[in-house]
Amino acid sequence: MRKKLYITTAIPYVNGTPHIGNALDYMLADIWTRYQKMSGRDVRFQVGTDEHGNKIAAKAAELGLDPKTYTDQTYKNFELLMQKLGAQYTDFVRTTDMHHMAAVQYIWKKLQPYIYKGSYEGWYCQGCEAFYSDKDATANNGICPDHNQPYQRVSEENYYLKASAFTDRLREALESGKMQIVPEFRKKEFLELMKDGLQDVSISRPRRSLSWGVPVPDDPEQVMYVWLDALSNYLTVIGYPDNETWREYWPADVQVIGKDILRFHAGIWPAMLMGLDVPLPKKLLVHGFVHVGGAKMSKTVGNVVDPNEIIDTYGVDAFRYFFTRHIPTQDDGDFTWEKFENAYNNELGSDFGNLVQRVASMITRYQSGVIGDVPQGEHDMQPYREAMESLHFNQAIDEVWVTIRSLNQYIEHVKPWEIAKRRETDPEAAAHLAEVLGHAVGSLLQVSDLLSPIMPGTAEKIQALFGSGIVTQEPGAVLFPRIYVHTPDPRAPKGA
Ligand SMILES: [Zn+2]
Repeated sequence: MRKKLYITTAIPYVNGTPHIGNALDYMLADIWTRYQKMSGRDVRFQVGTDEHGNKIAAKAAELGLDPKTYTDQTYKNFELLMQKLGAQYTDFVRTTDMHHMAAVQYIWKKLQPYIYKGSYEGWYCQGCEAFYSDKDATANNGICPDHNQPYQRVSEENYYLKASAFTDRLREALESGKMQIVPEFRKKEFLELMKDGLQDVSISRPRRSLSWGVPVPDDPEQVMYVWLDALSNYLTVIGYPDNETWREYWPADVQVIGKDILRFHAGIWPAMLMGLDVPLPKKLLVHGFVHVGGAKMSKTVGNVVDPNEIIDTYGVDAFRYFFTRHIPTQDDGDFTWEKFENAYNNELGSDFGNLVQRVASMITRYQSGVIGDVPQGEHDMQPYREAMESLHFNQAIDEVWVTIRSLNQYIEHVKPWEIAKRRETDPEAAAHLAEVLGHAVGSLLQVSDLLSPIMPGTAEKIQALFGSGIVTQEPGAVLFPRIYVHTPDPRAPKGA
């Protein structure tokens, strides 16, 4: 029996609003899920929200709410984005779920041989909820570059996870590829980061400095601190430890994360799993950051792009198209409204939408909507498959566009409208025309298959249009109607 598949996404803090990075997580996991389902695989796809921690308690207090009431409201912003993106997730975990909290306490107990109490002094960033070494703090001039806040010197009693005990096993797993980090250069970065060994990590804080979290079993003075609670979600959501079905899905095939949380997912997380005697995930897919016109997105600068705004204006498939094709799956990318709108109007509107509309209207005009014989699409699927399997979704969609471009060239070259004119004098012209249009439909149906994991709504529209053998398109119906919000409309009268 083939193993059932499992893909996970990072769980965001619910105190913020969903951003492009969250949308990328859900979209990449969804593309992979749909692609695997196409080949008949059983896929479980986890999403969720991280709902503990001081920032959440503070924000709730500011609003006069208890933390749970506050997270009951805010987690929905993330759920809404997942749904808008069309993410076909199967499991939604909230770290405030009863099952999750009980399972995390079980995990704590099971990790006892690797947990010890110690006192800690270090540089702490409240925004990251993480400690940094003297070296990091000095390198950043004492200010967290992600949060623009000075590190605080904090000393307190904590429990530690003895991650250092797993250094050799982890290095072996990464070097042998038992656990892969994709892309390769991120693996190298991480191996360099751990060259002096994994560091033991603080996994609790005194209750007085962290009130909102999972209580440490058998020590009322301590509360679990972010990573042990949050990372466990990938296991607890599939039923670990009490529902045996978790074994059908674990180890995860792919865990999608942003590059900013690689060190936790490649260090602490495998250490936890080895301590629990649970297999390591097969692959971490690490995506980069999306910049805006070369600059980092930041609230202070005011250049934050809201994924909801893009989806609401241009549609979900336009979002999925741009962020799949123009943001490299495994590296940083750049967004500007101009780039987006050019891609939307030119690549989706002109190259693709017009093509579909042209083929449909020629079949309607010349053949009363009857498509006739449709040959199999002839584009070689292998490069697309290889790109999908190696998690280069941007290259997969480039392959689809090769077919679209060559079909446009084919139509310009054979000029079906001229063949149509010859039908009155040439007895073979009608058959030739049907053959040309049948070929075009075959290519477009193949395009729709290849696009279905990436742009599922568009793929369905093409299937509906050409899949039944008869075109019944509304006159003037177009895919990706032109939208000019951020760039000038070239059809606008000059000087108007
Ligand atoms: Zn920070």
